[in-house]
Order: sequence, then structure tokens, then C-alpha cells
Amino acid sequence: MALTGLDIYQLLPQTNCGDCGVPTCLAFAMKVASKQASLEECPHVSDESQEALGEASAPPQKLVKIGTGDNALQIGNETVMFRHDEKFHNPCGIAILVRDTDDAAEKAERVKALSFERIGQLIDVDVVAVECDSGDADKLKTAATGLNDALGLPLVLIAGEAAQLEPAARALQDARPLLWERGGPSDELIELAADSGLPLVVEGELEKCDADTQKAKDAGVEEMVLCPGEVSPREALEFLTITRRAAVDQTYRPLGFPSIVRAWGDDPAQKSLEACHYVLKYAGIVVLDTDRPEYVLPVLVSRQSIYIDPQRPVQVEAKVYEVNEPGPESPLVITTNFSLSYYSVLSEVESSRVPARILAVDTQGTSVLTAWAADEFGPEQIKDAIEKSGVFNELGDGYCKPVIPGLVAVISGELSEEIGQEVIVGPKEASGLPRFLKNEWPDLVG
Ligand code: SF4
Repeated sequence: MALTGLDIYQLLPQTNCGDCGVPTCLAFAMKVASKQASLEECPHVSDESQEALGEASAPPQKLVKIGTGDNALQIGNETVMFRHDEKFHNPCGIAILVRDTDDAAEKAERVKALSFERIGQLIDVDVVAVECDSGDADKLKTAATGLNDALGLPLVLIAGEAAQLEPAARALQDARPLLWERGGPSDELIELAADSGLPLVVEGELEKCDADTQKAKDAGVEEMVLCPGEVSPREALEFLTITRRAAVDQTYRPLGFPSIVRAWGDDPAQKSLEACHYVLKYAGIVVLDTDRPEYVLPVLVSRQSIYIDPQRPVQVEAKVYEVNEPGPESPLVITTNFSLSYYSVLSEVESSRVPARILAVDTQGTSVLTAWAADEFGPEQIKDAIEKSGVFNELGDGYCKPVIPGLVAVISGELSEEIGQEVIVGPKEASGLPRFLKNEWPDLVG
């Protein structure tokens, strides 16, 4: 039976030291009881308490680690079905499939190129899935070790039989690859995973996964990843949803593991679309059989979007940014420090080729209208931001006429009074900036 917060509290040191990131032991106990924290986060819990709490306090979904060092991928440990209930903790891995019959060196270069910058963050492919297409264990080992040397990314080793996986698994044991025997795991693979301490994939329908995870656990395998196998997108989504629900809503341990799913679509666009769905609906790793940037980028963007903490909007530093080497007479475009707002404005100003400055006002990372409605983006706040940035002082008295978003045209009069300068109302959407800056701005400033 699940332990209550008070049961857990009785077993904690009750010193309220705050080292777990929560101010009191009681608050921490409540978080553990609601599966939002794990007991290991308290560094002072005694071995006896640890044992007493045992499995009851373990996270509902097992944390599985693939790879080592800075590039290691951690999946699982999720606690909610919906991001707005709390947040999703461990971003899923995006794996590119490489066959052992491919040119590994060329593939490695293509995988390296799958790295993009979006809203100030680097988003890239972080797993390589190496499949034994040749049926030759040595070929798989050669391809996998070559890719490991070239990329240092976590690996998923895929083969039809445990015997084909063993040489690569042994050679790369220190790199902690995930072992995936299609349709498995067989007894041989379970033995290999238990002996090597490597994580393995449990593939099949729910009943089979249920039985196989318990069999593997009894054999000493701790880290497992569930897989629905080669099924339709609808069946894959059902599998992902049911296993997640079994873990976080029912704390059903045999299905309390993250999942891996492969996009089987016929063409790259369909694979990309499928993969986006799997990322958004609970996959721990998504395997993509394409390395073309136009199909991989949407998947990376989906992951970036769903794993952003909804309680902490992504922000940029509140300050003045210079674009296209502005001079003293260049426009000052005002927006908020919400990353999406700032980068939308930045990309439009850059594409206009008009030299300009962008002032990102600190609105705690909220967008223009949200910030205005919350009194975070009014005349006073913008005046403060202008003064704090020192932009007027730097440019001298001759500088004037900042541009505010058209969505908040209503504040232009009051802002003008506050700063003693004429205020220009810009377009409502960032997409209108290039035309505005090129065609309207010169006439407005004379
Ligand atoms: S770290 Fe442990 S002892 Fe300290 S407040 Fe948290 S739960 Fe209590």
C-alpha cells in the first residue's frame, strides 16, 4: 500500500535543513508521497529508513541511464500525465538509425550536422541506434564502436538475436548501450544484461511486457525500456499512454519503465510526423530512420517545446541587443524578455537588414499581451527598462522615438509622457517588422 506523507515524514531526519531543495522535511515527505520527488534527494536519510521506505517511495517510473559522461541520456522518472500538472522531467532521446551496412563515418558526419539553435538553446540529436542489418555480429560491433568513437553519443544496439548483440555489448560495456533484441528479450539477452549491468528493451504487447519485466527483474536486470514493436502509430500511442498511466497513476511497477518507439512510416515526412507525436505523448526514446535535417528538426522542436517547464518561461537577459551594427539614429524596438517574443523580433529585424536595437524588458519571461495584462509591460516598466539600460544616455539627446508593439498601442501616449519622447506604434506581429522598418520607419522619423 502507498505510504502517506506522514508515514514518510516519520522516517526522515526532521531537521528541516533544506538540502533537498524543499524548506522542511514535512514538505519533502509530501512531495515524495505524491511522487514528485524521490527519497534519494534527501542526502541525510538513514540506511534503515531507506530500507523501511523501500520500493514504496521509489519513483513510479524507473530512471534509466544510457551512455556515460556529459552525453549520458537519462529517461524515465516521470511523475505526471500532463505537463501542466507539474512538468516533464527528462527529455526523451532522439535517435538516428544507422545500419551496420551503412558507411559509419559518413553517417557520423550527418548525425553531427543535426544540431540547431532555437530560442537561444542548442537542440540536437542525442542518441544513435545501430541496427544489425547484415546478420553479422562482428559487423555490428565494428559499426557501433566506430560510431561510439566518432560521436560519443549514447547507443541503442538493435539485432534479431542476442548472439548478434553480445560482441558489441561486451566491447562497449563501459559506454552503457541499450540492448534491443527485436521481439525480445530472450533468456540469453536477459542473462547478458544481468551479467553486464546494461539496460535492455522489453518488446511486445502489454501482457508480454508485464511478464518479461518481472522475469528480467528476477534475473537481476534493473534498468529496462518498454517497446510496442512494429505497430501502427495508433497502437504505438496507445501503448505509450497505457504504460505511462499504469506507472504514474497506478504505480504499477512491472510497467513502470520509460519506452522506446520507432517511427515506421513509409516516407520521411510520415516518419517525422509520427516521431513528433511520440515525443509529445510519453516516449523515452524515439528512433528515426532518416537523417535529413528538414525531417529531424520538427522532432527536436517538439521535444524542446514539451519539456520546457511551464512554470518557468524561457527568458533572455533583459537588456539592449544590437542588430546589424546600429548607429545613433537606428530604431529602438521594444519587446519583452520572453524568449519566443525576443527571438521572433530578432529574426525579423535581422531579415530586414535595417540596423536596429532591441530592448527586451524584464516581464518575468511573459509575452507582450500577457505581460501588459499583468501590469508588467506598461509605461512605467518600459521607462524603467529604458533608464536601466542607459540607451538614451549612451546615444545622446538626439535619439528619440522608440517603437512599441502594436498590440499595446494603448500605452503609447502615457509612455510618451513618461519618457518625454515621441513613441511610435509598430506592427502588431513581429512578422510585420521588416516592412515597417524598411518602408514606414524612415517616413515616421523624417
Ligand atoms: S534534506 Fe532531508 S533532512 Fe534536510 S529538509 Fe530535506 S528531507 Fe529534511
